[in-house]
Amino acid sequence: MTRTSLHPATLAAQALGSTDATTGGIVLPIYTATTFLRDPDNQYRRGRSYARADNPSYDQPQALLTALEGGAASLLFSSGMAAAASVFQSLPRGSHVVAPQIMYWGLRSWLRNFAESGGIGVDFVDATSLDALRRAVRPGLTRLIWVETPANPLWSVTDIAGSAEIAHAAGALLAVDSTVATPVLTRPLALGADLVMHSATKYLNGHSDVIAGTLTIAREDPFWERLRVARSSGGAILGSFEAYLLLRGMRTLFPRVERACRSAQQIADAISQHPRVLEVLYPGLPGHRGHMVAARQMTGGFGGMLSLRVRGGTSAAIGAAARVKIWKRATSLGGVESLIEHRASVEGADSPVPRDLLRLSVGIEDPEDLVADLQAALDE
Ligand code: PLP
Repeated sequence: MTRTSLHPATLAAQALGSTDATTGGIVLPIYTATTFLRDPDNQYRRGRSYARADNPSYDQPQALLTALEGGAASLLFSSGMAAAASVFQSLPRGSHVVAPQIMYWGLRSWLRNFAESGGIGVDFVDATSLDALRRAVRPGLTRLIWVETPANPLWSVTDIAGSAEIAHAAGALLAVDSTVATPVLTRPLALGADLVMHSATKYLNGHSDVIAGTLTIAREDPFWERLRVARSSGGAILGSFEAYLLLRGMRTLFPRVERACRSAQQIADAISQHPRVLEVLYPGLPGHRGHMVAARQMTGGFGGMLSLRVRGGTSAAIGAAARVKIWKRATSLGGVESLIEHRASVEGADSPVPRDLLRLSVGIEDPEDLVADLQAALDE
């Protein structure tokens, strides 16, 4: 069997199958060197000079992510925000960008506070509507459409193939924040996107112990070269130990995500019936606005993230979160432990998120325990 004929889950479990050429170790070493020897004739024939530009500990996680996303190349960054910010900072001054109204609030806030002053114009639109995206692009001026799907914290779904067509017709790129979908459930590049971003802090690492980000590109073109230089010259690089932990996490990506998806569907179905629940937001529910598009572009499940709206407003929602015993009250997502969070408390006053919304990140515990804990907290 050739490597290209292997299933993605096999590639991930074996981290592409590489072993340490020197010792035969089945886990690659962590390279801590910050600088590399020059040849006597002043060349760097081994290809590396300084670890801000070329860290050997990145090779394997970047290659594995590239294989899982079906891209041409990947870059690790010090955080998801650093990866996303590099994309906007690498656009020419005066560029116009279209971004979603519903998206990870930290990036929305960065775009509002920093992108404009960096010479980028941003229009926020309803990215669940291709018509809204079509109306927002300005041919010749729009350089990028940025989407997130499913998007925080309503799990709004954007049609990636449709967005790619709109972007390309306007001469723009399509970038997808695929943190929640992961390469297990969606491969945006195969649907026409040009760039995929992950907060690797979440599912890719999966253990709530590394902050990291990634970009994967469809083609190694001049924009990619700019992103590469943006990372090495801007210095938003990941530590070697964190790169090792990330690769270790990625090896169990498939079983973790598959289980989280199954449990999230089970929890969404069970909690939808609870009398104190106004609405459950989960793309796997037929009543969710994005269900049909999600069913088309996601394979194997609808993700491990869902939100619920509690009858009785802010205090009822915060009260329910206070009573859970197994779910952990914490921000973030995509770890092996399940998390619950009153989202409006995190996002602040200008957030479009309903005040009665609790965001749930489903981990890999027994789903019956998770359902029982949530039901008991809502019952009181
Ligand atoms: N994108 C999404 C969907 C996220 O949930 C987050 C973090 O919560 C980010 C981006 C930012 O990633 P990081 O916290 O790794 O900087």
